[in-house]
Amino acid sequence: MRLDRLSLRDFRNYAQLDAAFVPGVNLILGDNAQGKTNLLEAICYLSTGRGFRARKEAELLRFGADFAEVQAQVHGQDRDRELRAVLFAGKKPRQLFVGGVKQKSFAGMQGLLTTVLFCPEDLLVLKSGAAQRRRLLDNALCQLRPGYDRALTEYNRLLEHKSRILKDWRAYPSLSDTLPEFNLRLAQVGAILIGYRANYLDKLDRCTAQYHRAFSGGKEALRLQYKTVSTIADPHACRAELEGWILEHQQAHLQAELESGQCLTGPHKDDFDVVLDDISLKSFGSQGQTRTAAISLKLAEREIFRDDTGEEPVLLLDDVLSELDARRQDFVLNQIKTGQVFITCCEKDKLTNLGAVTVIEGGRKVKEE
Ligand code: ATP
Ligand code: MG
Repeated sequence: MRLDRLSLRDFRNYAQLDAAFVPGVNLILGDNAQGKTNLLEAICYLSTGRGFRARKEAELLRFGADFAEVQAQVHGQDRDRELRAVLFAGKKPRQLFVGGVKQKSFAGMQGLLTTVLFCPEDLLVLKSGAAQRRRLLDNALCQLRPGYDRALTEYNRLLEHKSRILKDWRAYPSLSDTLPEFNLRLAQVGAILIGYRANYLDKLDRCTAQYHRAFSGGKEALRLQYKTVSTIADPHACRAELEGWILEHQQAHLQAELESGQCLTGPHKDDFDVVLDDISLKSFGSQGQTRTAAISLKLAEREIFRDDTGEEPVLLLDDVLSELDARRQDFVLNQIKTGQVFITCCEKDKLTNLGAVTVIEGGRKVKEE
C-alpha cells in the first residue's frame, strides 16, 4: 500500500497543497503549528472516513472556507487509484469519489488506503481514559471491516438520539414512549460491534504479546482482556445471544438512565484491560512499561493489517519517535524497514537521513528533498 501524491484544498490550515511522496520513509519537517499533523490527518481521512482530531467534520475545513478537498493517488492491490473527498460547510453531505466515480457511502472507499497512525497520545493510551482505547479499536475496524463502519455510524446516530430523549423526556414525557424502539435497535447494532471487537481483540492480544515479549527480552508477559457490557457472558457468542444480554442490561438500568438523563448501557462504554504479568498495567505499570506496551500494541496493529489485507499499511508516525529514548527508537525503526512510512518531526536530526524530506511552513510546502 502506497500513497504517491496528495493534494489538499482548504483543508485545516492548507489553502492549497500538492505533494509527491516516496515508497519508503517520508519525513514531514517543520516548526510547531505549521501543519504537519494536519497533513497526516488528511491522509487518515481518506483511509478511515474520519478526522482523527476532529469531533465534527466542519473542523476540517479551513476557517471561513465553503468546502475542503482531499485528493490522493494511491497504489494498492496492484492498481493505481485516485481517491477524492469533498467536504462542505453547513449541512450538505460530503462527496466521495474513487477514480472519478461518486460513491454512495464511505464503504466504496474503504480498504483502498489503509493506515496505522501512531501519535504521542497513543503512548499513554494504556493509562488514559477508555475513550482513547475505543478509538484505537474503531480506527482499525472501520478500515478492515465495512460492516463495522456501517454499524458504528448507525450506533452513534442512535445513541445521539437516545441521549436527547433521556435529556428531554421530563419536559416532553411522551418522548420516553419511543425508548424501547431505540433500545432494541441499539442492542441489535451493539451486538454487531461487540462481535467484531471481540475477534479483533483476540488477534491483537496474541500479536501484542509477541512483540512485547521480544521487546522486553522475554521477561514480561502481556495480555489484553476485553471489557464490555457486564451481562455478556461470552463476547464471542452469536449475535442473537449478545442482543439478549444487552437488552437485559438495558432493562436493569432503565430507571437509572431516566433519572440521570444519560445512556448508561451499551458498547459505547467498552474498554480493554492490559495485564502485565498478572498485574493491571493501568493501575501499576511504570512509565517505561506503559510505553513499551503501547509500542507493541501499535506494531501488532500494523501486522494484523498486513495479514488481513495482504499489504503493508501506510504507517503514520506523528511526533512519536522524538518522544522515545534511543533503545525504543531503534526497536521501532528496526521493525518498520518495510512499507511506506510518514514521520513528522520538528528538527533536523538523526532522523533526517532516513528518507525523503518535505518541509512544511504555515500550511505550505516550502521544500522537497
Ligand atoms: P506541532 O509540531 O506542534 O505538532 P504541527 O505542525 O503538527 O505542530 P498542526 O497541528 O498540523 O501543527 O497545525 C496546527 C495549525 O493548524 C494551528 O496553527 C491551527 O490553528 C491550524 N488549524 C487547525 N485547524 C484549522 C482549520 N480548520 N483552519 C485553519 N487553520 C487550522
Ligand atoms: Mg503535530
